[in-house]
Amino acid sequence: MEKTYKKPLPHIHGETKAYWDAAKRHELVMRRCRCCNEYYFYPRDFCPSCFSFDVEWARVSGRGILYSFTVCHRPAQGFEEGGPYNISLVELEEGVRMMSTVVGCADEDLKVGMALEVVFDDVTEEVTLPKFRPPAP
Ligand SMILES: [Zn+2]
Ligand SMILES: [Zn+2]
Repeated sequence: MEKTYKKPLPHIHGETKAYWDAAKRHELVMRRCRCCNEYYFYPRDFCPSCFSFDVEWARVSGRGILYSFTVCHRPAQGFEEGGPYNISLVELEEGVRMMSTVVGCADEDLKVGMALEVVFDDVTEEVTLPKFRPPAP
């Protein structure tokens, strides 16, 4: 665990707390609407498709594919250390797309459509970030 994590940390509050609590347990959870059965991200207390408040938390597999990505050579503030990094849009098996980053793979080897699985990075005592990596063969 990095003791001096300098990058920005998520602002954790009501609608997202269960998501971050699950990440700390190394579980990936998504909101799912009981009305239309869709998963969605980011976590909100209502379904963005049908606006129902009849929604639940559901653990997801953590498997997905790289839907889109960009390699950032001019880092945003707070991300200066460690050189270029990728910002990746991952599409989970459950159909949701989430912004994350791919680790364990050189940026030049990233390919749209490649298989990914979630991995949990305990960046501080309080915060664990879900990231993705190519699955072990
Ligand atoms: Zn807030
Ligand atoms: Zn819905």
